Amino acid sequence: MTLNIDEQDLYSKRQTLIDTARRAFDKGLQTNAGGNLSVRLAGIDACVIKPSGVGYPECTHDNLMVVGFDGTILMGTLKPSKDKDFHLAIYRARPDVNSVVHVHSPWATGWASAKRDIPLLTVQSIEKLGHLPSIPLGENGGLQSAAQVEDVFKDKSIRGALMHNHGTIGVGSTMLKALQLCEIIEETAHIATVKEIVSQGK
Ligand SMILES: [Zn+2]
Repeated sequence: MTLNIDEQDLYSKRQTLIDTARRAFDKGLQTNAGGNLSVRLAGIDACVIKPSGVGYPECTHDNLMVVGFDGTILMGTLKPSKDKDFHLAIYRARPDVNSVVHVHSPWATGWASAKRDIPLLTVQSIEKLGHLPSIPLGENGGLQSAAQVEDVFKDKSIRGALMHNHGTIGVGSTMLKALQLCEIIEETAHIATVKEIVSQGK
């Protein structure tokens, strides 16, 4: 099968993913081999995505996968992550989205595990996120399904979401923008926690 993939675009998208994954790891947004991130390729309905079982700092040009938006594995020998289905659902529903970043960052995931919405307290968080919906767990308390995630993200105004007992999602026209939203969500959760503690001492 001949793939209509622009080699230069593929190389630069893989490098961007590697750099973004490193930044997310260095900032403590994701440890171990959890989370997932992907970036849309030009001219083809497919994305570069991290495989399952590979940590953010261990992403390389050799282990990243290319997966079609219909779920077909186009490049790569490892297993794609379970999270791939919701990444693909977002790309199918949102032509404006070129990157999806998903992390289990601890402050935000703490709020999501308490099943509480994170209040957008700062001007920046309101400006950048507008609204931060929460996605409840899936059937029988399992992970959120791709359909649940798609349902939230089909609203074009949504740029980020919390997943109960799981983590956060940021989307954007570039991978940097998608990651920055995950950073803002995490920072907002941290600020909200400090505000609650400080307010108790009043
Ligand atoms: Zn996850």
